[in-house]
Amino acid sequence: MINLLQRTLSSEVPAIREGQNANGLVSWRWLHEGIVEVTPKQHCHEDQSVVLSAGIHGNETAPIELLDRLVNDIMNGQIPLAVRMLAIIGNPMAVRSDQRYIKADMNRMFGGRHSKFEPSEETARAQLLESVVRDFINTSTTCIHLDMHTAIRQSLLPQFGVLPFNVPGTPPNPKLLDLLDASGLDALVLHTEPGGAFTHYTGELTNASSCTLELGKALPLGHNNLDQFTSYDQVMRSLVSGGCTSPAMASRSARSPIRVFRVLRSVINPVEWILFPNTNVALGLRAGIVLTEVPRSTLFQS
Ligand SMILES: [Zn+2]
Repeated sequence: MINLLQRTLSSEVPAIREGQNANGLVSWRWLHEGIVEVTPKQHCHEDQSVVLSAGIHGNETAPIELLDRLVNDIMNGQIPLAVRMLAIIGNPMAVRSDQRYIKADMNRMFGGRHSKFEPSEETARAQLLESVVRDFINTSTTCIHLDMHTAIRQSLLPQFGVLPFNVPGTPPNPKLLDLLDASGLDALVLHTEPGGAFTHYTGELTNASSCTLELGKALPLGHNNLDQFTSYDQVMRSLVSGGCTSPAMASRSARSPIRVFRVLRSVINPVEWILFPNTNVALGLRAGIVLTEVPRSTLFQS
């Protein structure tokens, strides 16, 4: 058993760093602290891969637990694996101390921006994650990366996805869009310029289709009601089982359509609000992002 979360919490380096799962159909490798690669021995979709990351912010616990449970279920043979998969607990130091970050916010460091921060374990970790995902993704024809977060405070639209800035005219990967639609998200937010988030890095600088998921509020590790996140769990499971099974995902038609927002601008001095409002930032730093609701067709416009 890999015990991704438990080993990350205890800073334990496994004595054995590779092996097979219970039914012998999956091989695994412990690449670095909190990073495991799992590979099906018989690929259902040989050239596809999936990166699932959580805990880039250390106190955003529920997605870490979901990811750990998913890896365990693959190891137990309870769910089939059809694609190569990389499971990442982003910021182990911050997870252990139940803080968003220790020195600086890792989700602003990607795309080489870590070099602009004072060197720390977090800048080193961001650099490591860049190199690990680049190597992993570059060996696949297509890759989907979901980076899972939870919100600091309540939101009018509690569960939403953020699509990183994309080359104009490049619509989102249809498979990713189908999954997001099926997930029951309240909204999709389209970034209009590059940034330092993990998904920006994988979306811009590798050939991945990436999305940051904000899944509502989380409680301390072990206290989350994971039932609240069932639809995301199903999305992850569907993604990694790659159609080898047909998970019972609820039909989107039963819900109101997903709302699409486009970023208008960042708030530099906090008067307005909507996305990631945070008054606790130094003058001159981003205190929020102003959005405007747009038609779904915006997803496909150049
Ligand atoms: Zn976060």
